[in-house]
Amino acid sequence: MRETLVLNASFEPLSTVTLRRAVVLVLQGKAVVEQAHPELRVRAAAVELPVPRVIRLSRYVRVPFRRRAPWSRRGVLVRDRYQCAYCGRKATTVDHVVPRSRGGGDTWLNTVASCAEDNHRKADRTPEQAGMRLLRAPFAPSPSDALVLGLGGAGRQALPDWLPVPA
Ligand SMILES: [Zn+2]
Repeated sequence: MRETLVLNASFEPLSTVTLRRAVVLVLQGKAVVEQAHPELRVRAAAVELPVPRVIRLSRYVRVPFRRRAPWSRRGVLVRDRYQCAYCGRKATTVDHVVPRSRGGGDTWLNTVASCAEDNHRKADRTPEQAGMRLLRAPFAPSPSDALVLGLGGAGRQALPDWLPVPA
């Protein structure tokens, strides 16, 4: 039974774990007891400690991407309605705003849909360096958008408000 609440180091609730797992985390110094059962004690190895009801991780952990849309090239094209972020014409490629050669990653905020010409013209430069302007800022789709992006070519009815019907 998962009976102990686990908080991130930042105090955000993360998940629940079994009492045994909670005790191990505390004994390993990976978590501290935030709230314990007022009476019960648990004996583990040679130590005894209060039964933790809430523990908090000693070090902050990044929450995995499970609730966010996973990045994909197709997802970027769908998000940007297949419109080039630089000229607004039909986009067939994905451009890295900060080029990968300069450390830019495959992330929602660093990628935009781009026509092949603009992508080629921009090459290994930032928009500033290339003298090109983004018509709109890239954004990370919300969790509910993720479903739609995952479906990609789903019916027009499925498209959320921010995703106008393609011409
Ligand atoms: Zn273009």
